[in-house]
Amino acid sequence: MTTTTAADVLSLELSEKVLARLATLGAAVPVGTGVPTRSPLSGGTLFELAATDAAGVAAAVQRAAAAQRDWRMVPAPQRGAVVRRLGELLREHKDTLADIVTVETGKIVSEARGEVQEMIDICEYAVGLSRQLWGRTIASERPGHRLSESWHPIGVVGVISAFNFPVAVWAWNTAVALVCGDSVVWKPSELAPLSALGSAALLERALVESGHSPDISQVVLGDRAVGEALVDDSSVALVSATGSVRMGREVGPRVAARFGRTLLELGGNNAAVITPSADLKLVTTGVVFAAAGTAGQRCTSLRRLIVHRSVKEQVLAKLTAAYSRLPIGDPFDSGTLVGPLISAKAGDAFRAAVEAAVGQGGEVLAGGNLVAVDGLSGVFAMPTIVDMPEQAGIVLEETFAPILYVLTYDDFDEAIALNNAVSQGLSAAVFTRDQQEAERFIADDGADTGIANVNIGTSGAEIGGAFGGEKETGGGRESGSDSWKAYMRRSTNTVNYSSALPLAQGVTFLSDAE
Ligand code: NAD
Repeated sequence: MTTTTAADVLSLELSEKVLARLATLGAAVPVGTGVPTRSPLSGGTLFELAATDAAGVAAAVQRAAAAQRDWRMVPAPQRGAVVRRLGELLREHKDTLADIVTVETGKIVSEARGEVQEMIDICEYAVGLSRQLWGRTIASERPGHRLSESWHPIGVVGVISAFNFPVAVWAWNTAVALVCGDSVVWKPSELAPLSALGSAALLERALVESGHSPDISQVVLGDRAVGEALVDDSSVALVSATGSVRMGREVGPRVAARFGRTLLELGGNNAAVITPSADLKLVTTGVVFAAAGTAGQRCTSLRRLIVHRSVKEQVLAKLTAAYSRLPIGDPFDSGTLVGPLISAKAGDAFRAAVEAAVGQGGEVLAGGNLVAVDGLSGVFAMPTIVDMPEQAGIVLEETFAPILYVLTYDDFDEAIALNNAVSQGLSAAVFTRDQQEAERFIADDGADTGIANVNIGTSGAEIGGAFGGEKETGGGRESGSDSWKAYMRRSTNTVNYSSALPLAQGVTFLSDAE
């Protein structure tokens, strides 16, 4: 006889909730085997979806490739109109989709809605972009010649996404790829396939309503093997992969081996420098949101606090006081600020990291342990602050949990050196009212990260800027600025409108040929 546990009951409730939301979004749910869906609220399995096999991935890519051949000929502003419709549908169903994100990832409601808002924002951005896909005219050295650049759709974009931004990352890629004239095959995280089905259903509706093929957008489900099939498919022109450095290390060379293109958005190990002149009110809010928000499960989460010796005591007093009041619990409760970790494995990694930090001479100033939450059976970590004697060992690693390591500095150059002395290069921040320090931080010899902020934390980027990082973070940029260029192929065009054929560099060859 099997006994029904409280976790089973909760998993059943969550299944019903999520299935009702998916029905509202018009999403088909491919029940089968291979992709168990889970919720970190219950820690249990909800139900199982059918994984896409290798032949299914190839077929999805071929459908997307066939559909793209027509899509690329649709004028970009008309492609933008489809993205505008997607944005409208997302706005209409914001809370419904956000609920699924909360069930799957444990994100608090306000952050889950923020994630869907980010999808809406990038749709609006992409609509504008659809009328601004410009090229350059370049001065030609030859008379009667015009030298210019034009940009063209690249083909099929494969999107591989991580669990922690289960839908926004797809939207950053897809909204821009669509207006660029590409089609998209998405392999969502195996930890968050349900919000993917909901998002894709809205795009399918936008495409069909506008008279376009739904094949422009494909979803394939499964774990890394499905990702690998996408990575190895030579019909996928660009693989945009978001996840761990380990994943990027595998994906990058595989795609390069077939001369495909990659856009890699990998792990971070982000720091904030707290200078003597810092406004401590800003520090408290900025640091606590960046370090403890999303339970430390953002690529941009703050993991290292580099604080000047003269203000260390004061800063840590404020932070530990704020940490002691952080509400941890059910992400659906509006008062909760810290939800669960994604899995029991993430709980183990949290515990192991704290243990390693203590073993390396660290002193735990806040948190340090897992806690139980009434009515839920997931894994909850107390946001943790550990004062470290030096930047070494565990501090150099990205542990995807709310652990903030404190490092002490005396000289601003030392702070910048500490900021840069990790292998990852995503995001960094300085809190200062000293203009020289602020400018130094973002100068050529300042922070070596893809994102460098002054007087705000390391997380919570806006979509208008290019998002991504350097070094082991992978070098990719997506979302705003000129990131769209990654989704297009550049053609350099020379048009000779003269009656002569002068060769470049003054080369002569058959110059008098009749
Ligand atoms: P993960 O690397 O375990 O998985 C990410 C995705 O890659 C999943 O869809 C997975 O199935 C797939 N995958 C894994 N190995 C693969 C392989 N060899 N070939 C093809 N696909 C493969 O990451 P995760 O635990 O889901 O997410 C957390 C990580 O993602 C953290 O390191 C975080 O910093 C990073 N992240 C980075 C960004 C960014 O923009 N830089 C954004 C979000 C998350």
